[in-house]
Amino acid sequence: MSDEADANRVAGWFGDCYGRQPEGVWQAPGRANLIGEHTDYNQGWVLPFALDRGVLVAAACRHDGMLVIRSRQAPGEPATLPLATVAPGRVTGWAAYPAGVAWALREAGHPVGGASLAIDSTLPQGAGLSSSAALECAVALALTGLYGLDVPRPDLAILARRAENDFVGVPSGIMDQSASLLCQASHALLLDCRSGEGSAVPLEPAAAGLALLIVDTGARHALGDGRYALRRSECDRAASALGVRCLRDVAGADAADGLADPVLRRRARHVITENHRVEQAVALLRAGDLAGAGELLCASHASLRDDFEISWPEADATVSAAMDAGAAGARMIGGGFGGSVIALVPADQSAVRTGIGEEYTRRGWPPPGFLDAPPSASAHRLR
Ligand code: ADP
Ligand code: MG
Repeated sequence: MSDEADANRVAGWFGDCYGRQPEGVWQAPGRANLIGEHTDYNQGWVLPFALDRGVLVAAACRHDGMLVIRSRQAPGEPATLPLATVAPGRVTGWAAYPAGVAWALREAGHPVGGASLAIDSTLPQGAGLSSSAALECAVALALTGLYGLDVPRPDLAILARRAENDFVGVPSGIMDQSASLLCQASHALLLDCRSGEGSAVPLEPAAAGLALLIVDTGARHALGDGRYALRRSECDRAASALGVRCLRDVAGADAADGLADPVLRRRARHVITENHRVEQAVALLRAGDLAGAGELLCASHASLRDDFEISWPEADATVSAAMDAGAAGARMIGGGFGGSVIALVPADQSAVRTGIGEEYTRRGWPPPGFLDAPPSASAHRLR
């Protein structure tokens, strides 16, 4: 779908909701992480790229100090919140994401006032493609755009993350918001999650006769269910047992062997080897060898499955079926326990799609969703 068509659709819907034209329309993309999973909160490295799908926000200022939020994906009454009283714990459900962004901006001293927002999305939710960050970043651009505030994008990423961490209550890392706000078309973003420094790495699958394919396995996670937080605390415990501030600071691949607790040993081994795989993948991409990175995707999947123990049956079956059908590499993406798989496939994707579809049929699972994933531009104003 083109930017133009997206903008028309959400602007039209804004008109239906609020009886006036929006002052602007913004889009923020979801992301897929090529490699570097569960390294972000260990202050390591990640390599996400922006998708050509995301969350759209049409918005206009209000002068009554209210934040009124509607989402096409959340039918029913709008969330209507007096901005001055918006605080963590006061807003629940999906509206906490956009309300949290307004709160984080104001907490940081940015004078954001009331607004009417109409939200629409071209991104599946809970699929590991970061619809939550896309929502936060689209709202962050909309509110700062409406009020003429020039907040540098790295700062905006930190504020959007704060909304998710401190307002919604999900302890996620900085990757998703950085990807949505800082990626470039035909590139991935190598992000150092300690310094926040990002650099663009060429990622042009079509030029290599390849494509990136996302397979939505249909299984859904709930980040709030505690398993994500458990992995984070396991990593923290592993780091203290190894005498470092966080697992990024462990250098040698065999350093985890020193841990007595076998669970912490496995968790640490995943993070340490995954950081190394990101470094190797970047070297291959910079050398123009995207196909060569395929093997690293498979190694990442095995590590997430066996050491980090966050894969799920549909993901394992998807990776195997993709490889059997000629993919160059594949792995689960996202927080785990549900969501999507990314596969590096031949430009003609038909054999891989068919192979995966047949495997789902054989197992009696509902058919998976397939999404083309061309590395795309970061969040922007559509009009
Ligand atoms: P992911 O970020 O992988 O898609 P999360 O669980 O982090 O999964 O975020 C999904 C949540 O974000 C949804 O449950 C909903 O609360 C919110 N959300 C995302 N997109 C929208 C949308 N278009 N409208 C309303 N809420 C949304
Ligand atoms: Mg999310």
